[in-house]
Amino acid sequence: MYRPTDHGYIEVVVGPMYSGKSEELIRRLKRAKIAKQDVIVFKPCIDNRYSKEDVVSHSGISIRAIAINHPEEILDYITDETQVVGIDEVQFFHERVVEIALRLADMGIRVITAGLDMDFKAEPFGPVPGLLSRAEFVDKLQAVCMKCGSPATRTQRLINGKPARYDDPIILVGATESYEARCRKCHQISK
Ligand code: ADP
Ligand code: ZN
Repeated sequence: MYRPTDHGYIEVVVGPMYSGKSEELIRRLKRAKIAKQDVIVFKPCIDNRYSKEDVVSHSGISIRAIAINHPEEILDYITDETQVVGIDEVQFFHERVVEIALRLADMGIRVITAGLDMDFKAEPFGPVPGLLSRAEFVDKLQAVCMKCGSPATRTQRLINGKPARYDDPIILVGATESYEARCRKCHQISK
C-alpha cells in the first residue's frame, strides 16, 4: 500500500482478541527496521502476559518494547532520529494518547497503533474511537469465532467458563477468567 514519505501519519489496527493485531503491528515494525528506519515501540505496563519489555503475539512472534504507564512518557523517548512509533494494547492508555499520537504525526513520525476497538460488552474501548476517526489508515481485523468458526469481531469474557455479566467487576478475586473470539451471533453478555 502507498504510504506518504514526506510527512507523518497515523495507522490504526483494531479487532477482537486473537485477530492478529500484535502480529500485524510487529510485521509492520519489522519491515520498517529492514528499511533501516529508527523504530521505537511502546505498550502499557499492565499487560504482563508474557514479557515485561516485549510485544508478544499469541502465535509467539515478538519485538522489543518499552512498558510505560502514561502516554506522555512516549515523548521522553523521541529523538530527532525517530521515524516510526508503535503502540500496542492502545485501548489501555488514557484518552490523552490520542493527542500524543496527533503530535507525533505532526512532527513527521509514522505512528502505528494496535488495540481492541470494543470491550467485552461490545462497547467502544477508551481512546480507540478517537484514534480511529483521526487516523489516515485503518485496518479492522477479524479472528475466528470459537463457537461456530465464522469471522469473529467481538471478545467474549468468560468467568468460570460462563459468559460474564454486563456489570461484573473488572477484577474478580478467586474466579477463573478467560477470553475468546466470537462472532456477533455467538457473543453473549448476561444481564
Ligand atoms: P491479537 O493481538 O489481536 O490478540 P495476536 O497477534 O496476539 O492477536 O495473535 C494472533 C494469533 O492467535 C493467530 O495468528 C493464531 O495463531 C492465534 N489464534 C488463537 N486463537 C485464535 C482465533 N480464535 N482466531 C484467530 N487466531 C487465533
Ligand atoms: Zn460464532
